[in-house]
Amino acid sequence: MRILVHIDDAPMWRDALKSRLPQAEVFTSDDGVDDIDYLAVWKPPASLLERHANARGIVNLGAGVDALLNNPGLPKGMPIVKLRDAGMGEFMADYVRYGVLHFQRDFDRYLRQERNAQWKEVPLVAKRDWAVGILGLGAIGKHVAQALASDGFPVHGWSRSPKEIEGVTCHHGDDGLNTLLTRVRTLVTLLPDTAATRHIINAETLAALPEGATLINPGRGTLIDEAALLEALGDTENEGRLRGALLDAFPEEPLPADNPLWAHPRVRITPHMAAPTPVEEAADQVAETLRAWEAGETVETVDPQSGY
Ligand code: NDP
Repeated sequence: MRILVHIDDAPMWRDALKSRLPQAEVFTSDDGVDDIDYLAVWKPPASLLERHANARGIVNLGAGVDALLNNPGLPKGMPIVKLRDAGMGEFMADYVRYGVLHFQRDFDRYLRQERNAQWKEVPLVAKRDWAVGILGLGAIGKHVAQALASDGFPVHGWSRSPKEIEGVTCHHGDDGLNTLLTRVRTLVTLLPDTAATRHIINAETLAALPEGATLINPGRGTLIDEAALLEALGDTENEGRLRGALLDAFPEEPLPADNPLWAHPRVRITPHMAAPTPVEEAADQVAETLRAWEAGETVETVDPQSGY
């Protein structure tokens, strides 16, 4: 089988795949080869997808497939397999833990006090009274939900289909979302970017959260209506309904320097670093997928209809 890799650090990925699939020929897009069976890519140029339109399938070297599905060069009907967890769940759990503790242990408030040399202890809210809501219970969302539950936080999760996850109160559908929103002090968005999830965090959903709730978005920037978020956060002087936000993903990345979120005193921003793809674990999964695909076994492909 002939595999073409396109990603930053492609030679490293090529070598990682080659060592796991010694029978395969593995190339990078710099090699300029044709007659490729499988593409293993992250954000490829449209021309690369068009050139290899006869490939049997694509492995997306990340969890989010929005960029690939929106790529104008994607051949119609081309099967896509995406990474599922592959070590990202644990990175993401750490990121979300950090964010939840930032608010639950009042580090946001202490940071502001520190800037004014102010020494004042804030009454602590116990973990058991700090419910966390996770929108999206996929490969990564489920891992995060279980990690926070085992840390001692009450965890509510929301997905499209009904689920049962030990230690997590699971909700689904519109009613389920409304119930979850009224109960949580921190809302975490780990949904994919699809037509159904765009701006799911808007004036209405933000208003359903309890006063003083907090938001962590390591999912996708398009999940959030930014104007509604800024409105809910209040201005520099006056805290709004939403106490603060930790944001890792934005509709335009890098986040433009003049975006008001940068300067907002109750917003923390990270540059889409919540859960990088660990090459070794991901290469194990990609190699296993390609082996199964080549052997004619069923592989779980992305549903272009639902968009994830
Ligand atoms: P999955 O595709 O495995 O899971 C998606 C989840 O969202 C599923 O539980 C699905 O429900 C749910 N969902 C999708 N659409 C809806 C809807 N309309 N209503 C309710 N629930 C819905 O995703 P992952 O867990 O792998 O990834 C989660 C997010 O994290 C993605 O947006 C990904 O891009 C992002 N990410 C960000 C990274 C970063 O560094 N910032 C790194 C890695 C991922 P159901 O289970 O019923 O299908």
